[in-house]
Amino acid sequence: MDCIFCMIRDGKIPSNKVFENDYVLAFNDVNPQAPVHILVIPKIHVESCDKINAENADYVKEIFLAIPQIAAKAGLDKGYRVITNCGEHGCQSVKHLHFHIIGGTQLAEKMC
Ligand code: 5GP
Ligand code: ZN
Repeated sequence: MDCIFCMIRDGKIPSNKVFENDYVLAFNDVNPQAPVHILVIPKIHVESCDKINAENADYVKEIFLAIPQIAAKAGLDKGYRVITNCGEHGCQSVKHLHFHIIGGTQLAEKMC
């Protein structure tokens, strides 16, 4: 399968990893939109938020357990935003479920 994030998980594409366990991998976004811009992915291929189900929900749980640890390590003590883009209207460009952790500055109030 031609999935960039599966290739990052497998070490076929280099990344700056910031967190890893059996379920979750987090690395810096290659094109950061804020001083801190980290992507958190499940280690199995799930296409998007729309494909979350009872079988893969443990991975999603682990992602959300990891996020506070990743944020603390990144020094995001004043807060941050967690975003997942889903499908065409959501402007999802990489079709492997991922959550953006964005912070390190005051973010805009408007989300769209
Ligand atoms: P989306 O638009 O799907 O929500 O977000 C995809 C994100 O993946 C974008 O912010 C983009 O900069 C990032 N990205 C795309 N290719 C790579 C890559 O090869 N390495 C890293 N670290 N990030 C990538
Ligand atoms: Zn994938």
